[in-house]
Amino acid sequence: MKEKMRLIVMGPQGVGKGVQSEELARIYGIPHISTGDIFRKNIAEKTDLGKRVSSYIEKGELVPDEVTSAMVFERLSQPDAQKGWILDGYPRNAKQSADLDEWLQKNGEELSSVILLDADGDVIAQRIQKRIREEGRSDDKPEAIAERLAIYARETKPLTDYYLQKGLLKKINAEGDVEQVTEAIQEAIGN
Ligand code: ADP
Repeated sequence: MKEKMRLIVMGPQGVGKGVQSEELARIYGIPHISTGDIFRKNIAEKTDLGKRVSSYIEKGELVPDEVTSAMVFERLSQPDAQKGWILDGYPRNAKQSADLDEWLQKNGEELSSVILLDADGDVIAQRIQKRIREEGRSDDKPEAIAERLAIYARETKPLTDYYLQKGLLKKINAEGDVEQVTEAIQEAIGN
């Protein structure tokens, strides 16, 4: 590995962000930090954070930015994240992206790459159906998924222009099998 990897993995619901982030985390030996996974773990363990966020998650709405950013920065300051990290599901809107920039600057850190996983709508719909059958996530109800996809289109997708302008965005065709997509990402980030 040539440099300390600080990656963001972006893309619509069902495109495979979690699976690819997990693979990259294994390959590079750095933590996969999924905001959705952290929220769900807190809900399952009935922590104060879990109680605060469960109604947003059930509806597919965004958890308030200050709660989410504080949670992410707490996680990024843990010892295992000092060698690098992969952010999956954050930032999801302009405020979170600005919060992250501020945190990076304060901590003297820089993003390595922003990976945008891209797939046709039909492929995404099929993958979501498969996930519903296999994982049984309580927020994978049709209304909550529709809300999350709408928020993605309205608030998250526009962030890709920002990262493109910064020269960080790597758009990857995510329609192939898991291994092909992982290889394409590794090639794009040059590690
Ligand atoms: P998906 O990619 O299918 O939307 P996630 O596991 O990434 O699933 O997110 C599940 C839920 O967790 C979201 O619908 C939202 O309520 C909450 N969440 C995750 N990341 C964020 C974030 N960055 N900001 C606000 N809420 C978030």
